Amino acid sequence: MNVEPFALALSRPLATARGEISEREGFVVRVSVDGTTGVGEAAPLPDWTESLAECEAALEAVGAGDEPPTPDHDALAGAPAARHAVASAVLDARARAAGEPLARTLADEVGEGSTPAASVPVNATVGDGDPEATTDAVAAAVVDGFGTVKLKVGARSVAADIERVAAVRDRCPDVTLRADANGAWDPSTAERALTAFADHGVAYVEQPLAADPTPESGTRRDLQAHAELRGLGVGIALDESLAIGESPVTAALDADAADVLVLKPMALGGPDRAVAAARAAREAGVEPVLTTTIDGALARATAVHAAAAVPDVAACGLATGDRLERDLLDIDPVPVSDGRVRVPDGPGVTGTTRWHQGGTDRV
Ligand SMILES: [Mg+2]
Repeated sequence: MNVEPFALALSRPLATARGEISEREGFVVRVSVDGTTGVGEAAPLPDWTESLAECEAALEAVGAGDEPPTPDHDALAGAPAARHAVASAVLDARARAAGEPLARTLADEVGEGSTPAASVPVNATVGDGDPEATTDAVAAAVVDGFGTVKLKVGARSVAADIERVAAVRDRCPDVTLRADANGAWDPSTAERALTAFADHGVAYVEQPLAADPTPESGTRRDLQAHAELRGLGVGIALDESLAIGESPVTAALDADAADVLVLKPMALGGPDRAVAAARAAREAGVEPVLTTTIDGALARATAVHAAAAVPDVAACGLATGDRLERDLLDIDPVPVSDGRVRVPDGPGVTGTTRWHQGGTDRV
């Protein structure tokens, strides 16, 4: 197993609960499975995964053994980004050996076995801003071909956010609108926002309340509180709540806490786990949406394949390549066009037998 560190400058800083970061650091992992090399990316992110140092230690432990690397290795428990890299690389190698896209392998091994989609719809993301800046940004995304736009909310008063949403709806009557509060609200603020957003046809709000694994009468407190916000005419989506606690996807489904689950392969520990979680969600009547954690091109492409393995997936948060100043690959294997990402149809994750890094050909 070969492990190569990377650092990719972001085009603009990314806010995390532990402050802003200006670059994404991680590791490209190569494994050989029966003579075929596969590649995978580990891009740990504070709040969502293990730390960079923990990720490196986990990968070292996997590489140090005599056994071929496997995503089931004990060292990868509790290290989702490291597991993501190893699982992706093993699956990529198997897909390449079979001469099929990674999406096909994922659909057959953990999905419903259906034919993967040729392209996946993606949403545009619009940050906080006054009503005019917000509507301008949404209108520009619509002109670019996006049918779904996600608005950042929760950074200003709920009255101001309601004004922004109303202005957007006024200017763009047909766009599918989502909002992401990143846990900014308390239950009464959330109720007020959701009731008003319902009048403007907002499809769902991500993480209205903070993630909180504290148990309360047998259920996690945040899951219980989100369950109580359902039925106000706007869907409830969970994102940060799926990065904490034991088996968070199962816990969320068991608690009937959401209409939508935002599944991040990097945070869940691999594309295989994301596809399995999407399948479990569907079986429980909950819609899965797959997103990156602002990863490099390899993990972004891996997430696109995972989304393609989910039949008729809703618009996903995979149009994040523009957040990187520099990327892992010279040519983006999953460029966005007209609100969709085409799924690479050649073998493996990138769809080619060769890929590029820093201008050097790599097999
Ligand atoms: Mg979110």
